[in-house]
Amino acid sequence: MIIILNSEISDSQLEDLINHVEKAGMQTHLSKGTFRTIVGLIGDESKVSGDQLRTFPGVEDVVPVLPPYKLASLEAHPQPSIVNVAGVAVGGSNLAMIAGPCSVETEERMHSIARSIKAAGANILRGGAYKPRTSPYSFQGLGPEGLEFLRDAGREVGLPTVTEITDVRNIDITAEHADVLQVGARNMQNFVLLRELGRIKRPILLKRGMSATIEDLLMSAEYVLSQGNPDVILCERGIKGFDTITRNVYDVAAVPAVKTLSHLPIIVDPSHATGKPDLIPQCAYAGIAAGPDAEHIEVHD
Ligand code: PEP
Ligand code: MN
Repeated sequence: MIIILNSEISDSQLEDLINHVEKAGMQTHLSKGTFRTIVGLIGDESKVSGDQLRTFPGVEDVVPVLPPYKLASLEAHPQPSIVNVAGVAVGGSNLAMIAGPCSVETEERMHSIARSIKAAGANILRGGAYKPRTSPYSFQGLGPEGLEFLRDAGREVGLPTVTEITDVRNIDITAEHADVLQVGARNMQNFVLLRELGRIKRPILLKRGMSATIEDLLMSAEYVLSQGNPDVILCERGIKGFDTITRNVYDVAAVPAVKTLSHLPIIVDPSHATGKPDLIPQCAYAGIAAGPDAEHIEVHD
């Protein structure tokens, strides 16, 4: 953190400010220029509040040097993180392939899709048992039965599974059945859910909210990490735009951008980004070119 002082600050005001910071256990580094003096803070910044420092007389501004997503940042962890999904690595130099239907529909269909995606080379099976629908009258998912069908289909073909969690009350049962819990775009800022997921021992697939910035996504990851769960996989799935031809704007730039900011794996989901099966193959290639750690593709027979 850097404190920028205005030119009218008196010596005693500067002394008060430095005393305050040093009492909080931080060291200071004063740098006097012709027009501006700045104070650099060295140490654990969580001990002082930027907002409080701004109220000191003679302080013009307080500028953070580290990003607010401390644990998710590259500064905290300069090497890329690899999330182990029941033996499948997501992160590092691997490219994982996640595929499966939007919703688990029937036991038979779940098994047949699982066999097809396995044969096509995918290494993680997905399927939703709890669906966050825009309309309360749309199919809401099979719930516990869907979790069983997904788990059994994954076991049959020997693939780990991922499924969406929409409600804190379903965390235990979902974690018992699936290897990865997905937080969908609509729940990316459900902070109560994120905190609870930070306390379990299952990787979390965190999808970018449809109106969320990259920083918002990283701050949501921070909620999970801050509770002790280090296994967060980020997912770019398109953000709201004004065009109606595609469902969302597929922000492939988010992939290399996240790689400059965070050590967390990031994957792409061209299915939800485009909303149109015909567009998925080309957008899947575009996604791969951006350098993600996995592709996430919805398939249906
Ligand atoms: C899904 O993965 O089926 C889903 C609902 O995705 P999103 O949250 O990205 O819309
Ligand atoms: Mn879907």
